[in-house]
Amino acid sequence: MNIIYFPNKKLRSISKKIKLKEFNNYNHVIVYMKKNLIGNNIAISAIQIGFRIRVFLVKKSFLKHYLFINPIIIWRGKKKKKSYEGCISIPNYYRNIKRYKTIIVEYFCKNKSYNRIFIKGFISFCIQHEMDHLNGILIKV
Ligand SMILES: [Zn+2]
Repeated sequence: MNIIYFPNKKLRSISKKIKLKEFNNYNHVIVYMKKNLIGNNIAISAIQIGFRIRVFLVKKSFLKHYLFINPIIIWRGKKKKKSYEGCISIPNYYRNIKRYKTIIVEYFCKNKSYNRIFIKGFISFCIQHEMDHLNGILIKV
């Protein structure tokens, strides 16, 4: 499973929630997402390797990854800030996008626990970028 590149129409599709009991069916997808999250890439959504499921992965360090399953942004702060972004699916393209500085996200982990976290700054921008992927929205029109 390789990266899907712009302007492939699949990138515009809306991903579906996965059921708790089906989590284990997607282990191979997570393996492929990790494989493609190399170099300077910070985050990847399942749709970028062709799976229409509401899952994305954010890299914290070389070995540590955070998996977000069925994430929802339940709160957004008032302030927005410019975020200079690229996308694995759109090589050599960068642009400024206004993102919320702070958000609260609810999501499931791989162990099926439900989490609610407050996030600010750079990682908040990454999560908003990936949330857009789950809804078929790209940084390039
Ligand atoms: Zn992207």
